[in-house]
Amino acid sequence: MLSGIVKCGYCGAPLVARLGTRRKDGSRTIRYECYNRYPQKSKRVTTYNDDKKCKSGFYYLLDLEEHVLDRLNKLHTNPEEVLSQTSEKDVQFDKELKSREIKQIQSKIEKLNNLYLIDNISLEDLQSKTQELISRKNELLRELEVDSDVSNRKKRLEEVLNFEDIYSIDYEHQKFIVNSLIDRVKVHADAIEILWNI
Ligand SMILES: [Zn+2]
Repeated sequence: MLSGIVKCGYCGAPLVARLGTRRKDGSRTIRYECYNRYPQKSKRVTTYNDDKKCKSGFYYLLDLEEHVLDRLNKLHTNPEEVLSQTSEKDVQFDKELKSREIKQIQSKIEKLNNLYLIDNISLEDLQSKTQELISRKNELLRELEVDSDVSNRKKRLEEVLNFEDIYSIDYEHQKFIVNSLIDRVKVHADAIEILWNI
């Protein structure tokens, strides 16, 4: 349910699932621990935080899943609260990035036009490159429109949260909800921070 989105709250590396000790009935617990908890001697292909040893401990997968489901249950009962927290700041930041990209695209188009005027590129090049830029710009404009409308976020949320009770739906459905609404789960020994994607 949490693979890919669960990260170490201390160093930011992903948490990886490992089999824990065997129980009396023969089943084994699954624990999550920081990718950097036991740094390898040989250099790994993917590194996080310069492969520095992380002192974070381990967490039982079931505990983490339970916590996330509990938070989703709260979101389900009271979406307004979470919506108001999902910081307007993040939305604002994202909007600024998009507006900036739109400006950059605009100036690229102008440059291309100038290049064409001084015979530095062909008309075909001008057209195909401009077309590409324009469609990216339109895409950004559409996204901006959606972002700026809080009611759209609410509507999307309602669509995803269209079930009776998070505990009564099957695991695959729960997983889908988690992946639709949660960007990251940052795990500390004493706190679990959820970054919503709403
Ligand atoms: Zn770590």
